Amino acid sequence: MSGWDELDRNSFRDEAEAIAGLLAASPLDAATRAAVRAEAVDLVVATRKAARRQGVVESFLQEFSLSTPEGLALMCLAEALLRTPDDETRDRLIAEKIGQADWASHLGKSGSLFVNASTWGLMLTGKLTDVDEAARADFRGYLKSLANRLSEPVVRAAVGQAIRIMGEQFVLGRNIEAALARAKGEGYLCSFDMLGEGARTAADAERYEAAYAAAIAAVGRWSDGAGPETGHGVSVKLSALSPRYEAVQEARVWTELYPRLLRLAEIAARFDINFTIDAEEADRLTLSLKLLDRLAREPSLGAWTGLGLAVQAYQKRAPEVIERLAALGRDSGRRLMVRLVKGAYWDSEIKRAQVNGRPDYPVYTTKAATDLSYLVCTKALIAASPALYAQFATHNAHTLAAVQTLARAAGVKVEFQRLHGMGEGLYAAALARDPSLTLRAYAPVGEHEDLLPYLVRRLLENGANSSFVHLLLDEKTPPDAVVIDPIAAVEAAGGKRHPRLPKPADLYGDRKNSAGIDLSAKAERDRLTAAIDALEPLVDGGDAVRSPSDAARVVGHTREATAAKIDAAFAAAKLAQPAWDAIGGPARAKVLRAMASSLEAERDRLIAICVREAGKSLADGVAEVREAADFCRYYAHLAETKFGAPEMLKGPVGETNTLELHGRGVFVCISPWNFPLAIFTGQIAAALAAGNAVIAKPAEQTPLIAGEAVRLFHAAGLDRRLLALTPGRGETVGAALVAHPACDGVAFTGGTDTARRINQTLAGRDGPILPLIAETGGLNGLFVDTTALREQVIDDVVVSAFGSAGQRCSALRILFVPRDTADGLIEGLKGAMDALSVGDPADPANDIGPVIDAEALAALEAHVERLEREATILHRLPAPAGGTFFGPVLAEISSASVLAREVFGPVLHLVRYDVDDLPRIAGELAAARYGLTLGVHSRIESFADEVRALVPAGNTYVNRSIIGAVVGVQPFGGEGLSGTGPKAGGPNALTRYSVERAVSVNITAQGGDPSLLNLAR
Ligand SMILES: Cc1cc2nc3c(=O)[nH]c(=O)nc-3n(C[C@H](O)[C@H](O)[C@H](O)COP(=O)(O)OP(=O)(O)OC[C@H]3O[C@@H](n4cnc5c(N)ncnc54)[C@H](O)[C@@H]3O)c2cc1C
Repeated sequence: MSGWDELDRNSFRDEAEAIAGLLAASPLDAATRAAVRAEAVDLVVATRKAARRQGVVESFLQEFSLSTPEGLALMCLAEALLRTPDDETRDRLIAEKIGQADWASHLGKSGSLFVNASTWGLMLTGKLTDVDEAARADFRGYLKSLANRLSEPVVRAAVGQAIRIMGEQFVLGRNIEAALARAKGEGYLCSFDMLGEGARTAADAERYEAAYAAAIAAVGRWSDGAGPETGHGVSVKLSALSPRYEAVQEARVWTELYPRLLRLAEIAARFDINFTIDAEEADRLTLSLKLLDRLAREPSLGAWTGLGLAVQAYQKRAPEVIERLAALGRDSGRRLMVRLVKGAYWDSEIKRAQVNGRPDYPVYTTKAATDLSYLVCTKALIAASPALYAQFATHNAHTLAAVQTLARAAGVKVEFQRLHGMGEGLYAAALARDPSLTLRAYAPVGEHEDLLPYLVRRLLENGANSSFVHLLLDEKTPPDAVVIDPIAAVEAAGGKRHPRLPKPADLYGDRKNSAGIDLSAKAERDRLTAAIDALEPLVDGGDAVRSPSDAARVVGHTREATAAKIDAAFAAAKLAQPAWDAIGGPARAKVLRAMASSLEAERDRLIAICVREAGKSLADGVAEVREAADFCRYYAHLAETKFGAPEMLKGPVGETNTLELHGRGVFVCISPWNFPLAIFTGQIAAALAAGNAVIAKPAEQTPLIAGEAVRLFHAAGLDRRLLALTPGRGETVGAALVAHPACDGVAFTGGTDTARRINQTLAGRDGPILPLIAETGGLNGLFVDTTALREQVIDDVVVSAFGSAGQRCSALRILFVPRDTADGLIEGLKGAMDALSVGDPADPANDIGPVIDAEALAALEAHVERLEREATILHRLPAPAGGTFFGPVLAEISSASVLAREVFGPVLHLVRYDVDDLPRIAGELAAARYGLTLGVHSRIESFADEVRALVPAGNTYVNRSIIGAVVGVQPFGGEGLSGTGPKAGGPNALTRYSVERAVSVNITAQGGDPSLLNLAR
């Protein structure tokens, strides 16, 4: 590991340790702290005085903050309304968001004269006139009558207008010329930002590059040689310049993104303006620094000193980043401009770290720690002058006062920055006290349609009760309480993390969350690559198991279980099972937890086997081990809670009534190749947890990883007789296991047809009626409406349909898109497909590996031939030669009924629909009688409800991907042709693996009921 990659070592540093480091850095001494605090309180008082004149929109945002349902409804409306093209859907969105909240409760609450009925007049009609007296008298009725008349175009236009007014608060102009003119009019220095979501396609990236280039040139001309410090500048988001700005795509980032960035920097250098790279998600930090490093050393940029980067103080690595940037400034001889921000993605960083099972968060969990980090970074930035030019972006009076104090003490000139639409009052007060203060506004430029995601960020920032601006404007909070000294706050909290945000591992409380691997860190990727390279062929002798990505590579060998071996396995299992059942759930849980730990201890090797044997991508390999570990821990928890002491039941006096659960005997577990470790382990863990012994048959294609899992179970302390591995084909070994007289139940995951055959075999047996727990395939649909966000839809559709090469039973097969937005979405999907790479899954840069074998490949090819005849192929990616690779396909079909059954691979079918035709279109999907996963992308809750009612499904996902169910969080399994239930990873998962025994004891028969007699006394 060298250079910038070393930063990754501290990405998820223990929070207490990181905070101790911040406190030790001691950015302010006691006397200075008191002075800063006093200065900040004065600023608050002065700002509040000015705020009495604050804009109507600011007052509006204050009253309708996000802590109210009305504020949330407004945010949702704002986020979706302008992009929704069709009137019908707009009306429905407005009706839902306006109808569901208690607007009248805000009447007259705001200190502002306007934020009451007359504000609503403004928001709903776009005119600053008072609403009529009737509305004042009965506001609720007024709103209701508006909602009832929603079909009227005037109301629709009015709400649209209201959202625009809010947008204009935060956006300087619709294009760069307008923005420059407005900046001149208002007389402030700007860093312009071109609004938009990150690029999803190469065409998006090209478009953004052109927009940035034009903006830089326009700003440059306007600046007229003023220089980076005194002239306007431009901010860029690297995610806009490439659809794959990701660490795992580093090679492509150098060939595709870097040249774009260099071209833009060259224009900025030519005009000598400030050009700042915005800070985005934490897992992109190292990559952004590598790009900056190279840029700083480019000879074509001459002696330009305008190159800059934003650094987020909420990241634990921030002080180290500043130290390294200072070294880069000195080493490259190029002075860098560094904008210190706190960070705009805090909530999503927290969520991502939990979802990905990180050791800790990349950001602090308390606001005070972020504020303290900001102060520590401030001190370091100022000390790094002149190698770094410090720019401080904040709307917080305490932060502002602290920066000013530190800068003055060091005699270093610094710049302050605020977001357009925010912080005007604060900086007016600061400027009144110190007219030499340099201030720049970050000024978004763009069309209304593009402002929404940005607007939502701002609404969140204004509305969150932890935010300084929110407190500042809240007159109920005294100035003294608005200003918080972060050192005091951190010390008061004992230097600890937020009590309600435990480490991601402790998220579930009663069981440990599985640990992930951060593939954005080069060291982690290199370690996995080394594990794959080190993999020796597994198991000697027998039939060769070949890698689907390279048929010449033998991953190991396997021998089909013979009839004698099967008999012996059942016999041993029968003998051992009663004792295993008798030791009870808590004792069994210990073995399962030990298994989970072993899986994690050996995860690199297990991932390597998944990659080689099953063609899994690295990310899928990580998910595979995690899910297996989660199953073990979750079922351990169920074993403990449901298979421990008998449950006492209520009944009449004189008897005790209890219910207890026991294993059924020997379970046959038959699992598929697509989750060769997770489902294999999950079925076994469930059966074991309930007190059964297991005979496990893995898929023919993936016996090796199954062998490893069995080895780990035994090593975790499981009696070898309780778990036997019987590899082989379904028609031979599978059939023999199901028909075996000693079989007491079957858990099966695989095709619907096989499940039916197993069911028939079980039904034809003599003796007890045996349970079958079957999880089978699905014909999974995702319904998009016109309120959905294009970029979000593209991300979720691509991962749902093409992730894991489409070889998940949950994968998306049919996408339903409204006619109004279909063409744009199809273009986006095609572009996003082009940005995918298909190839050897051992390479971290490849998204899609091979399909499992030649038979699967042939079936997919045959399906595409059919589509060529009966449908329209919209797009297809080429597939590399060598293994069983299949290039993802997007095809348009006329209706779901074209597909009677599941097609297992990366083929996405698309159906266009008319809004009023939804019931018929959805009905055709439901008619296939599958019921596994279902997706909805919409901002209208009632639309999601409608789709759910039309298409029954075991797992519905709204505004997210439809794959990747997490154990215990999204219990997984379908209905209809998709399975029997109970759901894997759900609270009822073990019920069919067990028998229930009720015991009723007549205690009066032994001479009476002492408790009753005692009561009588
Ligand atoms: C000119 C300018 C440019 C900007 N550019 C970027 C950029 O490139 N990248 C970027 O990410 N952001 C950027 N921002 C946004 C910036 O991160 C937020 O505006 C800033 O965090 C608000 O800080 P504050 O001092 O004004 O407010 P404060 O209210 O004092 O701080 C709010 C911040 O505290 C942090 N926070 C809140 N709750 C917690 C918690 N429980 N634990 C830990 N931290 C918490 C969050 O970062 C939140 O944004 C920019 C802002 C400005 C003004």
